[in-house]
Amino acid sequence: VPSELGYIQNRLVRAGIEHDPDRLLAEATRPGMPVVAIAGEQAILKGDGRATTALLPGGLELETPREQVLLGTLDGRPVAGLLYEAAVADRIADAPALSAQDLRSIAVQGIVPPDELGMLAQAKSLLSWHARHRFCANCGSPTAAATGGLRRDCPSCSTQHFPRTDPVSIMLIARGDKCLLGRQKRFVAGSYSCLAGFISPGETIEDAVRREVLEEAGIRVGRVSYVASQPWPFPSSIMIGCYGEALTEEIVLDRDELEDGRWFHREEIVAMLERRHPDGLITPPPMAIANHLMRAWLSGEAGPAPKA
Ligand SMILES: [Zn+2]
Repeated sequence: VPSELGYIQNRLVRAGIEHDPDRLLAEATRPGMPVVAIAGEQAILKGDGRATTALLPGGLELETPREQVLLGTLDGRPVAGLLYEAAVADRIADAPALSAQDLRSIAVQGIVPPDELGMLAQAKSLLSWHARHRFCANCGSPTAAATGGLRRDCPSCSTQHFPRTDPVSIMLIARGDKCLLGRQKRFVAGSYSCLAGFISPGETIEDAVRREVLEEAGIRVGRVSYVASQPWPFPSSIMIGCYGEALTEEIVLDRDELEDGRWFHREEIVAMLERRHPDGLITPPPMAIANHLMRAWLSGEAGPAPKA
């Protein structure tokens, strides 16, 4: 898997319950220890653009964080993730050595080193989960972060709540030398991508691929195989990249889901990846797994390679 795929490299070593996470978090939040900070949907970064990093020096005293959690250790030292209100991102605009950026821009523009994207995704997903799970889903009482933020506990009914990751299947569907791509209204102009959808409770990844493609494009899919995965911190998904063989060709679009969808010849995909398609059509950027799935199909890494 190429290093340009966003959020897949993480320098942190995760610390489990056996490592006394409360003690590690207390250590990680002492002045002088590096921290990862999220304000609303944005990450706070240090640097002037040339050597920007997601690891902030401790003791910045931006404000009192809304949540603080243990992310893991870096070279043996514990690292905390801090969550601030979204307004903090606006206020630090005046700070000379700091900036606030959304995680998508950070990955697309390569603002921080690739091996820091994973810890940003981890911090954003975990902190967003804490922010959205302040009450017990079982009894409705307020919950509190426990074990360094690895979970939340309910003091009323003793239920332990663990952070969740939402699985999404994303698939390159091929038939011979063509593959199926679609676009949603919200995509940038000319951009086509792989179809994708959340996996339902009790559903296999393979069946989720077949169901999504049938629902959105009316295409029946046979054999499905796994290619690669990518954390997707919007807010806490895991994209499970698959290859699937189409059994039928006639497209029937679900217009509520897709603005357009059609078959693309391999030559068109090459032109789109290289930004030289005659109609200006493009693929998602290299940091996105859809881009990787298209390249893997062209090279024969995912399913049989289309004939040149
Ligand atoms: Zn409860």
